[in-house]
Amino acid sequence: RVFRAFLLSFTVLAASLLVLADGTQKYDYQSDVARLRKIVINSLYSHRDVFLRELISNANDALEKLRLTSLTVPEVLEGAESMNITIKAFKDEDGTAKLVIRDTGIGMNADELTANLGTLAKSGTSEFLARAESSDSTGTGNLIGAFGLGFYSSFLVADKVYVASLAAKSPKNPQPQQYVFSSSSDESTFEVYPDPRGNVLGRGTEITLILKEDALEYLDTLRVTELVSKHSSFATAFPIYLHTTR
Ligand code: ADP
Ligand code: MG
Repeated sequence: RVFRAFLLSFTVLAASLLVLADGTQKYDYQSDVARLRKIVINSLYSHRDVFLRELISNANDALEKLRLTSLTVPEVLEGAESMNITIKAFKDEDGTAKLVIRDTGIGMNADELTANLGTLAKSGTSEFLARAESSDSTGTGNLIGAFGLGFYSSFLVADKVYVASLAAKSPKNPQPQQYVFSSSSDESTFEVYPDPRGNVLGRGTEITLILKEDALEYLDTLRVTELVSKHSSFATAFPIYLHTTR
């Protein structure tokens, strides 16, 4: 939080863009994003629990943005009355292990998915990169505490990440459409496309992590509960619901 005070926004979009026939926009990550993802994926194994703290703190930020915006633009609340975070861990019919973190916060449109998740939207990250690349993994672990790794920490535990988001209604965006950002840990590209399910979220963001083979511990509800209470007790402004599936 303190660090965030001197982060500057930076609006350069991803370096190259390919539009596929079905309207999917396929982007190459900028080189610094590729570098950061590599560090995250390769050298932070022993700190990988932090992904949950990062995703919950993003959900909390999105809910707080919604709450503040609603004071002057009440229509942002249309679509879903509640302001909360839900977490669900399960194996689907195919046996794919999924951890889903959903919030009913402000959400993101297609451009915001691209800019916020596909680029390093913060100038301070270059300092993180410089320091991380010149330190061993223990040093890097300390850096996470100081800087926060944000969304990219998802790739510590996930082979593939889908972020579906439906932006809140506003005068500027009266008919928002739900989009998906998806990226794999082993690819240097990401995609943004309209969600084939339509506007199923009501409002907000749903992050689906396809868990790595060696990260199945996060399917365990008790383990997740422990992490939520350990790392996210600060995020008490909005309720966090944990689904248990049997
Ligand atoms: P930071 O939180 O420090 O800005 P992150 O990498 O965690 O960095 O997130 C990048 C950006 O993506 C956030 O600033 C926010 O704009 C957007 N974002 C991430 N998660 C969400 C979410 N759940 N809802 C809305 N926006 C989000
Ligand atoms: Mg964050």
